[in-house]
Amino acid sequence: MHDNIEKIIVSQDEIQEIVARLGQQLREDYQGKNPIFICILKGAVMFMTDLVRAYDDFSEIEFMDVSSYGDELESSGEVKIIKDLDVPVKDRNIVIVEDIIDTGRTLDALIKLLTTRGAASVKICTLLSKPAHRILDVHVDYVGVEVPDEFLVGYGLDYRNQYRNLPYVGVLKPEVYA
Ligand code: 5GP
Ligand code: MG
Ligand code: MG
Repeated sequence: MHDNIEKIIVSQDEIQEIVARLGQQLREDYQGKNPIFICILKGAVMFMTDLVRAYDDFSEIEFMDVSSYGDELESSGEVKIIKDLDVPVKDRNIVIVEDIIDTGRTLDALIKLLTTRGAASVKICTLLSKPAHRILDVHVDYVGVEVPDEFLVGYGLDYRNQYRNLPYVGVLKPEVYA
């Protein structure tokens, strides 16, 4: 285990099981639909690359980078697009791939955006869900695992752009923030 990690919340084995389960479920649900998996940068990169290999059927992968407008108090669900898609989504079946859903603001805004652009369907697949912080009641179709209300790093999730490469999801030691 990395020196700065206090405890592991989702182990490497658990991640593998989650990815296999969600990949199979998606494959059954999207048979013949050639979905576009949209990875939300950068946190969902690890999950995305494992998930599409577990999915193992006709599909496309695309990337978007978004950030929430303003601070937590002000955010109205508007997201700022830092990197947009370079393909049309009209009449396509979309699966948004996220690392974690917290307040739900990012995903709520993304679903609205892609729906406005004419997507045939927009569903969400998230590795982690933090129900304690949910502000918007976003329907999440595919959830890996629910996690406690703690700041998590690893398997894509960062603290100041570090720790994304850990193969598990964990909590940092308090002194790391000091
Ligand atoms: P939401 O719009 O659901 O509040 O925001 C979700 C985003 O907040 C995630 O994609 C992620 O970037 C960030 N986030 C939320 N909780 C955590 C966490 O525990 N650790 C890290 N590293 N990022 C988080
Ligand atoms: Mg994210
Ligand atoms: Mg981050």
